[in-house]
Amino acid sequence: MELSVVVPVYNEEENVEPLIGEINGVLRHLGKRYEIVVVDDGSEDQTFAVLSKLQREQPTMKVVRLKRNFGQTAAVAAGLTYARGEIVILMDGDGQNDPADIPALLAKLAEGNDLVAGWRFNRRDPFFNRRLPSMIANRLISWTTRVKLHDYGCTLKAMRKEIAKNLKLYGEMHRFIPAIAFERGARIAELKVNHRPRLRGQSKYGITRTLPVVLDLLTVKFMISYSTRPSHVFGPIGILSGMGGFLIAIYLTIQKWVYDLEIGGRPLLLLAILLIFIGFQFVTMGLLGEMLARTYHESQDRPVFVVGEILEERKNV
Ligand code: UDP
Ligand code: MG
Repeated sequence: MELSVVVPVYNEEENVEPLIGEINGVLRHLGKRYEIVVVDDGSEDQTFAVLSKLQREQPTMKVVRLKRNFGQTAAVAAGLTYARGEIVILMDGDGQNDPADIPALLAKLAEGNDLVAGWRFNRRDPFFNRRLPSMIANRLISWTTRVKLHDYGCTLKAMRKEIAKNLKLYGEMHRFIPAIAFERGARIAELKVNHRPRLRGQSKYGITRTLPVVLDLLTVKFMISYSTRPSHVFGPIGILSGMGGFLIAIYLTIQKWVYDLEIGGRPLLLLAILLIFIGFQFVTMGLLGEMLARTYHESQDRPVFVVGEILEERKNV
């Protein structure tokens, strides 16, 4: 199998059939062996019925039905698990991504990239509750992670199998796929892609998705930069805070013992106690983090590095 197109769908009964038709229309001319993996993320409408009808007609289709609605990220993860192609294309099931962009994505991937992310430069979504929050999120993500892209929210992507199979996705993390892949050493590129307005069905998201994205960003940043050394994040804060508290405590002790001043009602005393407490907390949190990091890496046999290739002398045996 050369190519897998992975499509997560949730309540898209009117959209799946036209979309599958479009994808087939584009891929048929590529002359590659391909499959379309549609993940039905626990739809409550007729989506699954439509999909099973389509699947009976088309052997190139694989339908994975989840037991309930697990969310887009989980649906994507399921699709990636069942995809068998050497190259995996990811796209939305509502027809907003344009299958006509697939050949260009593949060409860009062939230039030696491991992942090509789409950039919806003419994004067709409402401004205030969708495009504005997403502009802010894009800036934040590009600032905190080291992959510089214009559009992290675009589902349309192409990636090599090695990348697709090694992503560990949780929460709302599908938008951090490039960042996670980059951390594993992937070469990332960006390509302008077409974006179309949603013609049928409802968007599954609103303004409320902004906050989870920010929290996920924190997690991703932490996992990428510090997951192998959490005590380096918490430790310094703890030590600084503890030392600050300690110095203030010394100052107060001198005032009491040398100058015989009353310190019982001083706000500084409270501050000193607070800082010392925080200091202890942070240092111990860092140490706990270290233990968790060891469990995390060792339980999964997850190496702290990724090897690209190895050159060595061939032994004649
Ligand atoms: N989706 C999903 N599970 C969910 C929510 C959404 O599989 O819980 C799918 C949805 O069917 C669509 C894609 O994820 O194919 C993107 O969703 P949507 O178009 O609603 O997001 P938007 O384009 O508005 O950001
Ligand atoms: Mg959409």
